[in-house]
Amino acid sequence: MNESLLRLYELQKIDSELDELLASRGGLPERVAEMRADMAAREDELATIRARAARNEHDMREFERELAVVKEKFEGYKAQQFDVKTTREYDAITFQIEDANRRIREFSDNMARARVEFENSRGEAEEYSAELEGIRAEFEDSERTLNELITETIDEETRLRGERERVAVQVSAPHMALYERIRIAKDGIGVVGVRNGVCGGCFNAIPRQLVMELRRGDKHTVCEACGRIVVGDTVALAIDGEPQAVSQSVEVEEEAEGSQE
Ligand SMILES: [Zn+2]
Repeated sequence: MNESLLRLYELQKIDSELDELLASRGGLPERVAEMRADMAAREDELATIRARAARNEHDMREFERELAVVKEKFEGYKAQQFDVKTTREYDAITFQIEDANRRIREFSDNMARARVEFENSRGEAEEYSAELEGIRAEFEDSERTLNELITETIDEETRLRGERERVAVQVSAPHMALYERIRIAKDGIGVVGVRNGVCGGCFNAIPRQLVMELRRGDKHTVCEACGRIVVGDTVALAIDGEPQAVSQSVEVEEEAEGSQE
């Protein structure tokens, strides 16, 4: 049996496993990155709400302070009102009292509004913060799982790449060149075995005489239909250990035919 053909067939098996593994990893790294960005955006949102609450609280304290000042003035005017000597003084102080009164109402209103705003934004911040804690726990869980999956596939990838290197050096240069060219053109499958008289890549029938020749394992053919390298069923069996299904329907059909021989 041609060793290079045998190793070429083995190489295909490894490459197919690698392809499958890379496909299974799929968008995991991107998903982790997306989740991280989403968390960062939520944390920014929380910081914005908290900053608004702090501003509202500052405003409220400011109105509170102004209100205290004007109330003190008001009390002062009230006291002065008893000491006035002239009507003119009385009018002036009355005007001050009314003005202070007006400002007390104004500042009280402002303060009440600021308090409502502060209470609202503080409540909102607390609610958002609690919600975020839940989301963060979920995110950290998912991130850990995704990272574990990525780590696992990286270990498996390293193993397969090592295996590929070991096998690839045993494939002759012409076989390798042909394989790599076809593999790119044919969806990752460059070499297939004969399966029950058909091409394992496209199920096209292979002439019986050629099937017998390939069975000796010292040469390959190129499928007329799909263009893939086809090796004998003995080569495939030596690597696979057992006959591999072409596909459910073809396998059943061909086996039924084969048993009549
Ligand atoms: Zn074919």
